[in-house]
Amino acid sequence: MNYSDIFKSSINKLKNEGRYRYFNEIERKAGMHPNALWISESKKNNITVWCSNDYLGMSQNKLVIDTMINSVKKMGTGSGGTRNISGNSNAIVQLENELADFHLKEKAVVFSSGYVANESTISTLLSLLEDAVVFSDEKNHASIISGIKKSKSLKEIFKHNDLKHLEALIQKYPEKKPKIIVFESIYSMDGDFGDISGISKIAKKYNALTYLDEVHAVGMYGKKGSGVTEALGLQNSIDIIQGTLGKAFGTMGGYIASSNIICDAIRSYASGYIFTTALPPALVKAASTSISYLKKSDKERKMQQKNTILLKEYLAKENINFIDNKSHIVPIMVNNPIRCKEISNILLNEFKHYIQPINYPTVPVGTERLRITPGPLHTEKMISDLTIALKYAFNKTDRYNHSKIA
Ligand SMILES: *Cc1c(COP(=O)(O)O)cnc(C)c1O
Repeated sequence: MNYSDIFKSSINKLKNEGRYRYFNEIERKAGMHPNALWISESKKNNITVWCSNDYLGMSQNKLVIDTMINSVKKMGTGSGGTRNISGNSNAIVQLENELADFHLKEKAVVFSSGYVANESTISTLLSLLEDAVVFSDEKNHASIISGIKKSKSLKEIFKHNDLKHLEALIQKYPEKKPKIIVFESIYSMDGDFGDISGISKIAKKYNALTYLDEVHAVGMYGKKGSGVTEALGLQNSIDIIQGTLGKAFGTMGGYIASSNIICDAIRSYASGYIFTTALPPALVKAASTSISYLKKSDKERKMQQKNTILLKEYLAKENINFIDNKSHIVPIMVNNPIRCKEISNILLNEFKHYIQPINYPTVPVGTERLRITPGPLHTEKMISDLTIALKYAFNKTDRYNHSKIA
């Protein structure tokens, strides 16, 4: 048996399908966002980043930076252990209280990341409910899918945002069977919104629990920035709200906010919460600062929304095909993995605009795209330059319109 050959052939399969992942090496510079340095052949190039999930540039906000530096000086770098053994800092306890309050819930539980929050919470909930059935939107994130798989529970995948399909699936099961519906408030690749009101009505009718991933919405929507549920006044119709500290809040970590009893059960049973080192207190303090800043300040959100509209106007003028959703995410459709990668390369090499190509399995085959997340710090000049570069790159790769790639 030749182990290397097996791994090589798995990698070659990805390369042949045009979906081998190339990571760009970036050096971020505090105060320069959305500009950064791209390191290529040991040269540093100044680039404009269009695909960051640091949606509002909060990772470079002065208050957040100062909090983190001062907290490191006061409390050191690491947390010293798991939450159970010596890692339960008062910073993390305070953050959980703030998050509970932020989402109008009794309690919150913080995890190492949004991924871990989803995987651990969903698998633990399903295991505790024993013979439960989970109803999951077909576009749910990989971390949700992983949590469901780990639980070995019965699962039903409903067509994206299709309430009729969801209800038909629920009706197959007896009233007494425990049920959880898992969905997202914003789907990151199409930038469309989950039907929170419709799904919570169905949940109520069939006595199902609801679990909502608000990762792309926290910091971004609602008066205080606590998400789409806040914007719609629907916090109370969702049982478990999940979020991240790593996107709009510009730091790192994930969490759930829910009732006392659900949070206590997760805290007590979720292996991905219990058996891992707690987040460093300085990072937690930085996250708290970012949240309280965005609760009060909405100028970042307003500018972000303005720039999204502006970018769409520019793209429309040049007939560049994008999904016109109502969120902050602007997906430009390429619909061919090799062309998508090629356009991304042209943008970076010739124009110093960085947009990562999004290929299968992140999106379905044939729907490859460039996912743009305009931020409050992009200027109209940058938007106009990007549009010109995109137009050029689409024209230059026009041959893909005529020859079909297998
Ligand atoms: C990014 C993402 C996560 C994971 O959050 P991290 O904090 O990055 O681990 C979970 N759900 C969705 C929908 C995401 O896009």
